[in-house]
Amino acid sequence: MAKKGFGCERSECASSTDISGEASFGTGGLSRDGFWEFPCEECRNAWRLWQKWGKEVSVVHDVTTAPKLYTVKLSYFKAGGKWYSDGEYESKCAELFDIWDEVRGMRDRRHLPGLMEGCSEFIVSVDVPDHPHSHPRLII
Ligand SMILES: [Zn+2]
Repeated sequence: MAKKGFGCERSECASSTDISGEASFGTGGLSRDGFWEFPCEECRNAWRLWQKWGKEVSVVHDVTTAPKLYTVKLSYFKAGGKWYSDGEYESKCAELFDIWDEVRGMRDRRHLPGLMEGCSEFIVSVDVPDHPHSHPRLII
């Protein structure tokens, strides 16, 4: 597994889930049932240990899992409160306040998703519906 301190630590060793729902590790081809052409006993044993000690198995999948992107939904309002337009982008930020900061920065640079560059100043409502702590926020 490509993770340092886990199993064989070979970069080519990868993880999958076999047909019974168990994690499987190895190299070469992966069968439709989730079994590797060259199974890796070292990683499998390491994984069993992780399970036994109650550690999170999700760590095992870190290498193949891309960072979560949050879809950020934006609405733009004129200073008087009149709705103007909507925008949307994907943020790599994990925390809501970082996303708000990111949006504030885009607004200050007058470069907001869905609007022409150099747009005039707007009040922006920010919503990140799939964030676990989701609640709307106004950037004024
Ligand atoms: Zn391995």
